Amino acid sequence: MSRLSRISGISGTTRKNQNKMTKVLNSRIPEGPVAQKWTEFKAHQRLVNPKNKLKLDVIVVGTGLAGASAASSLGEMGFNVLNFCIQDSPRRAHSIAAQGGINAAKCYQNDGDSVYRLFYDTVKGGDYRAREANVYRLAEVSNNIIDQCVAQGVPFAREYGGMLANRSFGGAQVSRTFYAKGQTGQQLLLGAYSSLMCQVNAGKVKLYTRYEMEDVVIIDGRARGIIAKNLVTGKLERFSGNAVVIATGGYGNAYFLSTNAMGCNCTAAIQCYRKGAMMANPSYVQIHPTCIPVHGDNQSKLTLMSESLRNDGRIWVPKNIEDAKALQAGTKQGWDIPEQDRDYYLERRYPAFGNLVPRDVASRAAKERCDKGFGVNNTGLAVFLDFSESIQRLGINEIRQRYGNLFDMYEEITDVNPGEFVRSEGGFDYYKPMMIFPAIHYTMGGIWVDYELQTTIPGLFAIGECNFSDHGANRLGASALMQGLADGYFVLPYTIQNYLADQSIWPRLSTDMPEFDEAEKAVDAELTRLLNIKGKRSVDSIHKELGHILWEHVGMGRTKEGLEEGIKLIKALRQEFNTNLFVPGAKEGLNVELDKAIHLRDFILMGELIATDALHREESCGGHFREEHQTEEGEAKRDDEHFFYVGAWEYQGNDDTTPVLNKEPLEYEIIKVQTRNYKN
Ligand SMILES: Cc1cc2nc3c(=O)[nH]c(=O)nc-3n(C[C@H](O)[C@H](O)[C@H](O)COP(=O)(O)OP(=O)(O)OC[C@H]3O[C@@H](n4cnc5c(N)ncnc54)[C@H](O)[C@@H]3O)c2cc1C
Repeated sequence: MSRLSRISGISGTTRKNQNKMTKVLNSRIPEGPVAQKWTEFKAHQRLVNPKNKLKLDVIVVGTGLAGASAASSLGEMGFNVLNFCIQDSPRRAHSIAAQGGINAAKCYQNDGDSVYRLFYDTVKGGDYRAREANVYRLAEVSNNIIDQCVAQGVPFAREYGGMLANRSFGGAQVSRTFYAKGQTGQQLLLGAYSSLMCQVNAGKVKLYTRYEMEDVVIIDGRARGIIAKNLVTGKLERFSGNAVVIATGGYGNAYFLSTNAMGCNCTAAIQCYRKGAMMANPSYVQIHPTCIPVHGDNQSKLTLMSESLRNDGRIWVPKNIEDAKALQAGTKQGWDIPEQDRDYYLERRYPAFGNLVPRDVASRAAKERCDKGFGVNNTGLAVFLDFSESIQRLGINEIRQRYGNLFDMYEEITDVNPGEFVRSEGGFDYYKPMMIFPAIHYTMGGIWVDYELQTTIPGLFAIGECNFSDHGANRLGASALMQGLADGYFVLPYTIQNYLADQSIWPRLSTDMPEFDEAEKAVDAELTRLLNIKGKRSVDSIHKELGHILWEHVGMGRTKEGLEEGIKLIKALRQEFNTNLFVPGAKEGLNVELDKAIHLRDFILMGELIATDALHREESCGGHFREEHQTEEGEAKRDDEHFFYVGAWEYQGNDDTTPVLNKEPLEYEIIKVQTRNYKN
């Protein structure tokens, strides 16, 4: 096979597995040493000449950090870009919510950081389940991202002398996280948005706001367009292009309660899956350790307290079960528990990384304490995040300067001011702590893509959180923004040319072609079907039930029996959805309930995929913890002999049939696969 082979991601090899034909996926990683692969790729890839770029249309679905950076870059390069989002403005993509920061290997702190170390930390953080070559490329371009964003005017925090400031995030022993207060995503998105609008103004990008992609159109085996719904008029519209890029974010909202924005959905990704793109590692779901705990049944959203808080906040529960019971009963408050009776369990269990262990490790440790009865709120499902020591060391002003907006957000939601002084005893000042608990936050799994970010459907690319590519089984904090912007500004603009190089010879495809007709009719029929069910249950009530099933059976701790039961319940819930759903209103005009019903249909399929993948993966790694596979100390126990691969699921024609598992064997050239160790 040539170095830059252009065949689709499926190699000719098939193996008999679980009585079904399993394909071995070809990730098309360039040859050569890991550190040279990206340079080599760029040197040898095919290019599109400037005149031909003018003839090529690229559809980019999504205007978050991944979509906006890709659309603006492709527009600037000369392609004609059609860019879609469901919100009324690209600036309202979910990326705006990102708080804590973005990683890069600049080593401004002179603390020993390097491209290699960022690469190594990311592979280790992902529990050795990421693709090595992709992660090296990510670390390599991380520094370009910071330069690009500074040039755009992103107001990163700076030291007194003017240098860009850094803080630490989990899974690293260096400070490499660039940030803009607790609003990093917002500032980065404003930067990407200004580049995007520059291209809109130049006529190179055409924006379609309040449009939702409902289907991808495949012609002669290639992605050639999309069917999108105008969310205001309800009308279905057809768009053709020479390539389609999906940048539609993650699927965390399958769990109903998550830190994701309410509008986040996986409809575009699932529709690509139904049309032949594979869904990789769906069981790798990130449960973030520091979120505001669930407080009631009528809640529809959970709030993240940024990981950056773990730079200065210390996590603890009481040492004594009596104190925990008193906290649960409300007869004691956190500040009543003296310093010597506090169990800083992360510092105790993981001395080398302490409170900055990766998220999967911190979340499981919180669950372990709560399962043993040491939880600190009325439900017993919370631990403390306490700033007393750091306020004493640095002063409240410094702490507020670092985290002021996060403290304010916490107070607005809980009515507790976490920096408020309460009492002094034995030379220790006690301040009010935050209460936190793990919650669904991010999805490492997603659409399978090869090294060039192309799916198994030629011409269909996936970037940002919606692909599976770089984080393995667990994402390190501040690495999602890095990946989204790496994909959009620095990777896709190169790799998509390798595909588009011979596409300019084709005339622009008419949307009157039968494939467009068929796709639009199918979407229309589906909308009619949902409206005609005329059952008794609202979308939200079924979605909430799905969330309960997933959290209980496919949550932080998974077992064979629990997963089998979960799959059974999800199948029954699909039946309930198909027979007892009630969607008010009509197809025409704005109909939010109808849009939510489409999302729920796809969350149900995604939920079953998460559970199916979790059931097959008989090991524990990163965010996927099978209780049967743990060490005596309760740590995740991988099985590299049998599961050192990416699991990519292939749709079998209808939602009810179990998908087929395909595999991409992982190959590590320079990293030694070992047991993760954050203790010493
Ligand atoms: C509260 C919170 C805080 C976070 N903080 C950090 C952090 O500090 N650092 C970090 O690295 N990561 C952080 N993350 C993760 C990070 O924000 C996301 O992974 C990242 O922003 C995703 O970017 P994206 O461009 O892939 O998708 P998104 O930003 O989710 O954008 C998706 C886009 O797709 C569009 N879309 C979706 N479906 C359709 C459809 N069917 N048709 C048309 N358009 C569609 C949407 O309109 C939107 O424009 C955080 C996440 C959360 C929830």
